[in-house]
Amino acid sequence: MRINQERLKAAFDGLGKIGETPDGGLTRLALTDADRLVRDRMVGWMKEAGLRVSVDRMGNIFGERAGTDTVPPVLIGSHLDSVPTGGKYDGQLGVLCALEVIRSLDDAGIRTRHPVTLAIFTNEEGARFQPAMIASGVMAGKIALEDAYNARDRDGLRLLDELERIGYLGPEPCVPRPIRAYLELHIEQGPLLEEEGCPVGVVEGIVGISWTRLTFYGIQDHAGPTPMRIRHDALVAASDVVRAVRAIPGLCSPAMVATVGRLEVSPGVPNAIPGKVVMSVDIRDPRDEELTRALGLLERAARDAAASEGVSYELAHYWRVPPTPFDPEVVDAVERAAKSLGARHRRILSGAGHDAQYMAAICPAGMIFVPSKSGRSHCKEEFTAWEEIAPGANTLLLATLELARQIR
Ligand SMILES: [Zn+2]
Repeated sequence: MRINQERLKAAFDGLGKIGETPDGGLTRLALTDADRLVRDRMVGWMKEAGLRVSVDRMGNIFGERAGTDTVPPVLIGSHLDSVPTGGKYDGQLGVLCALEVIRSLDDAGIRTRHPVTLAIFTNEEGARFQPAMIASGVMAGKIALEDAYNARDRDGLRLLDELERIGYLGPEPCVPRPIRAYLELHIEQGPLLEEEGCPVGVVEGIVGISWTRLTFYGIQDHAGPTPMRIRHDALVAASDVVRAVRAIPGLCSPAMVATVGRLEVSPGVPNAIPGKVVMSVDIRDPRDEELTRALGLLERAARDAAASEGVSYELAHYWRVPPTPFDPEVVDAVERAAKSLGARHRRILSGAGHDAQYMAAICPAGMIFVPSKSGRSHCKEEFTAWEEIAPGANTLLLATLELARQIR
C-alpha cells in the first residue's frame, strides 16, 4: 500500500498558490488573509475526506478519521504558516502528506483501531507573533493561553483579535488530552540527508537551544581626535566574542553549532567610537551538559574581551530549551516503516524547533525528515524532489498504520 504521489503533488501545487510570491516563494504569515484562505481550502478538503473537523481556542485545526474503538487518536500534521519570503515546503509539505495518508487509507478501505487525526498548528514559525510554536506550546500547557492571546505583531495587532478576524477562534479547549502519538513529516532544513543520499530521516529528537544576550559598555567618543591608546571600544570587545563563539563548538562537541546573529552597535555612525554593543548568542547541542560547558566558555570569552579592551559588560542567559528526545516506540515505528519500504534512511537530530517538541511533552512524539536541496530553507530556494518526498510520505503512512493499529 502506497500514497498517491500525483494527487499529493496536485494538492501541493494548489495550496502553494495561496500566498505565493512572484519569484515562486511563499509569504503566508500566521492569521493573515492568506492564512485564512489556506485554512479554508484545507478544511474543505478535510470535510470532503469525511473528517470530523474541529478548531480549538488557539485556532489549531483537527480533522478526525474515526477509529473502530473509543481510544486516543494518532495525530499527524504540521503547520501552514511561513516566514516572510520563505519557501513552500516548510510546514505545508507535512500537512499535505498527512492529508494524503488519510486519503490513501480511504482508497484502500483500511480501518484502524485508533482514530487518525490531521493536525494543523497555528503560528509555528513565530514570524508574526512570538514565541514560535505558540499554539502547540499552549496545548502542551507550557504557554499560558492569556499570554498567547496577548502576543502582538509589529503593528500592535493582538493574536486573539486576528484569530477572531479570520474566523478561526474555535470553541474547543486548547489543553493536553490523551493522544496515542504525534507524528510530523518535515523538510530537514539541513544538508545531511542530501549529502548521504538518504530520502528518509528518522528523527530521534530535537537539540537543546540556549540564547544569551551580551552587552558591552565602552566609552563613546569622537573617531577623530581620540588617540588609539585611550580608547575603550565596545565593538572591539564584541568582535573578540564573535570569533570566540565561532570556536566554541570545536572545543565542545562535533554536533554543536553557535551563532552570533544580532549585533546592535550604538551610536552606529562612522565618526563615533562605539559606546555600546548588544549582541545575541545562539548555541545548540543534543546534550544539555555540553550546552552548559559552552555557556561557561562564552562567559570566559566575554570576561577576557572586556578586560582586554577595558570595557564593562552584562551577560544574560535568557532562554533555554533542553534537548527533546522523541519517544522510542514512535522512532522505532518510523524506522521500521522506512526499512519495510526499502528506503535508504538514517537516524538524525533536528537542529530547529518544531511543534513536535511541545507535543513530546504530552504524548509519544516523533518526526520524519525528507531532504532539503542544498540544506536550504526559509527562502524561495527551498526544494525537495518528488522522488525524495514519496519515500518519506510512505514512511508516514506505514508508521501511522502501525501506531494506529491497522485492522483492515
Ligand atoms: Zn516548519
